[in-house]
Amino acid sequence: MTDGFQLVIEALKLNGIDTIFGVPGIPITDLTRKMQAEGMRVISFRHEQHAGNAAAAAGFLTQKPGIALTVSAPGFLNGLTALTNATTNCFPMILISGSSEREIVDLQQGDYEEMDQLAIAKPLCKAAFRVLHAQDIGVGIARAIRSAVSGRPGGVYLDLPAKLFSQTMTAEAGKASLIKVVDAAPRQLPAPDSVQRALDLLKGAKRPLILLGKGAAYAQADADIRAFVEKSGIPYLPMSMAKGLLPDTHGQSASAARSYVLAEADVVVLIGARLNWLLSHGKGKTWGGDKAASRQFIQIDIAPTEIDSNVAIAAPLIGDIGSCVSALLTGMGSNWAQPPVEWTGSIYDKRDKNIAKMAETLAKNPPVMNFQSALNVIRNVVKANPEAIVVNEGANTLDFARSIVDMSLPRKRLDVGTWGIMGIGMGFSVAAAVVTGNQVIAIEGDSAFGFSGMEVETICRYNLPVCIVVFNNNGIYRGIDVNPTGGPDVAPTVFVKNARYDMMMQAFGGVGVHATTPAELQAGIDEAFRSGKPTLINAVIDETAGTESGRITSLNPTSMANKK
Ligand code: ADP
Ligand code: MG
Repeated sequence: MTDGFQLVIEALKLNGIDTIFGVPGIPITDLTRKMQAEGMRVISFRHEQHAGNAAAAAGFLTQKPGIALTVSAPGFLNGLTALTNATTNCFPMILISGSSEREIVDLQQGDYEEMDQLAIAKPLCKAAFRVLHAQDIGVGIARAIRSAVSGRPGGVYLDLPAKLFSQTMTAEAGKASLIKVVDAAPRQLPAPDSVQRALDLLKGAKRPLILLGKGAAYAQADADIRAFVEKSGIPYLPMSMAKGLLPDTHGQSASAARSYVLAEADVVVLIGARLNWLLSHGKGKTWGGDKAASRQFIQIDIAPTEIDSNVAIAAPLIGDIGSCVSALLTGMGSNWAQPPVEWTGSIYDKRDKNIAKMAETLAKNPPVMNFQSALNVIRNVVKANPEAIVVNEGANTLDFARSIVDMSLPRKRLDVGTWGIMGIGMGFSVAAAVVTGNQVIAIEGDSAFGFSGMEVETICRYNLPVCIVVFNNNGIYRGIDVNPTGGPDVAPTVFVKNARYDMMMQAFGGVGVHATTPAELQAGIDEAFRSGKPTLINAVIDETAGTESGRITSLNPTSMANKK
């Protein structure tokens, strides 16, 4: 005989899933034990949100759905933020949650952790399923996997009521009920006429630009994307998680001339990037104001409904990025005309000037460490260790790190993504270390770190090569706000002064370093990378450094009102 526990495990293993991120408890404790006994890697967290974030990052890095496992109601709810964030970012993950007795839940008779989880999950993810009978486990898991990775990837909810696990059936019937998913994310070839339309438009461009998004990083079509950029000779701009798809030092990078190229380009090729708030919705001042009227877009995306979401798209190219880019490459033939040098030359001039200016700032060593002098250290470390995975969250810590720390390999940068969410830090770091085995460096604002800080215990427990650098400026944005009433409470954005985050790591046997100078920071990171030991460096920076909301101050209601 076999049972629900066994069938869930076998269905996952049959589909190549060997790692689970979760928090044990009723009714899934035994499931986690049995998974481990069956040779799966079970990474237990301290809070479900971080297990969920780990699953999402694993999905982004591997193209296999990351699995998060939670208990019913409260655990499930804790996991939902991550599930929704994964869906928003187009990362494939499956949140599997135990749940209470259907009969009692539906009559609202007050079961242990009663909640209609399926109904709650539905609007927050790409698809949601519930399995009531052991013989349907195979189908349930197959549907969850396909939903997560096919088309536009996203988060899937799978509801497994407690009763399911103890249901039995014969081993033979159980085995026959399982499904090995064939071609879970089928290639989607673009239509030849849409390829031609895109090429015709690109051919006539005077000031073309390529914009790479995290969809392009996810697609793992690295060689073709690089070939397309290089063969076309078109300057390109990577969105933050597309950094490294081509090295940031590449001759065609327009990163350091971002405002110029967005305002001036006449034809923009979007590859796996949405025209959402991160790109000012494709219009307005960022895009050159009036010039927006004559600009044309080519958009490569797997989701046809993404097209025209913000502005008209002249040439949509629907399909998977690998197939679309390779079709463009073929269609370009062997003597594709390079873009006018007036355009490329002016971009590279501006870029080189800005880079020189930045180098001057980075070379300064102010008496009190600031974002730039600290990040200069990390910039050099990452340059020397291109395989290291950078995790980055915060406000100013995010903005500065994104522009200062160059990436040179694909999918080595994980950050706050489409929502600009805080709290991904430790979950993403654990996933990055677990699925790649590479050294991880988490560049964290002190506020951002607080959202997932307890997971340093998880990092120590699994002895993961994660080096966390907390940019400690005593508060949210910075640490100098005062309570205008003079009352005893500090201002809402201020934390305990001179906090020793490094001691949190020491509490669990990891290495804690207190760094007040770039040299101390350098020594701490060097040792962490050499030993691979869990390390937290409390990098004390100028508490007056930092601006409100970093570079998105304009989104605060008060600044919006002032603008009117
Ligand atoms: P960024 O924030 O970096 O600009 P977005 O998350 O806005 O990136 O955009 C990613 C886009 O990539 C989404 O519209 C998604 O549908 C698309 N996408 C994801 N994977 C693929 C793929 N394999 N092929 C084509 N498009 C993809
Ligand atoms: Mg801070």
